[in-house]
Amino acid sequence: MNEDTLTEMIIKCPACSVEGKAKSIMKELEIPHFGKVLETTIICPECGFKHSDVIALEQNDPAKYVLEINENALTVRVVRSQSATVTIPELGIKVEPGPKSEGYVTNVEGVLNRFEDAVKKALNLFDDTESQKNAKNTLAQIQELKKGNGTATLIIQDPFGQSNIVSDSAEIFEIPEEELRDLKTGFTTIEDN
Ligand SMILES: [Zn+2]
Repeated sequence: MNEDTLTEMIIKCPACSVEGKAKSIMKELEIPHFGKVLETTIICPECGFKHSDVIALEQNDPAKYVLEINENALTVRVVRSQSATVTIPELGIKVEPGPKSEGYVTNVEGVLNRFEDAVKKALNLFDDTESQKNAKNTLAQIQELKKGNGTATLIIQDPFGQSNIVSDSAEIFEIPEEELRDLKTGFTTIEDN
C-alpha cells in the first residue's frame, strides 16, 4: 500500500465549534485490487473529539464480503466504511453503522482488536453475572482467534460498496434487494407516508 498524498487542514471543530484548533488529516491510499480510498481523521485538542472515516474514491456495487478467519487470514487487509455492517456470527457480534461509527483501513487482526475493545467496554457496562459470563467467553474466543487458533467468519455488508476484504480467499456476494432494505446505513431515514 502506497501513501500517495497527505493533506492537513485546520478546521472549525464539528463538536465544540472552536475555531483554528481542530485538525483534519486526509490521506489518499492506493489499495491493491480495490482502488483509491480517502482516509480522513478529525482531531480536536480543545474538546478531545476524534473521528475517522474512509471513502472509496471509486464507486462500487453494494456487496457482501465473507472471509474465514484463521491463522493465515490475520494480515488480510480490511476496508470498513462508515456505512458497513460488520458481523462475526460465531462470536455473536454485529457492528452496525450509526452516527458515531467510524470507517477504517486495517487488517483482520485490527478488526478483532476493535471487537475486543468493544466487548471490554460492555464488560464494564453490564454487571449481571450472565452478561459478564458471556462477555468473558467472547473475549476468550477473540483472543484465541488472534493467536491463530480456531476459525470464525467475518462478514462485511456495505450498501454503498465502499468496503472490502482484500483477499483471494474472500467470497463476494451481491446483496439481495430485501436484505439491502434491512441494512442500516448510518443515515437517519425518514419514512414518507
Ligand atoms: Zn472540539
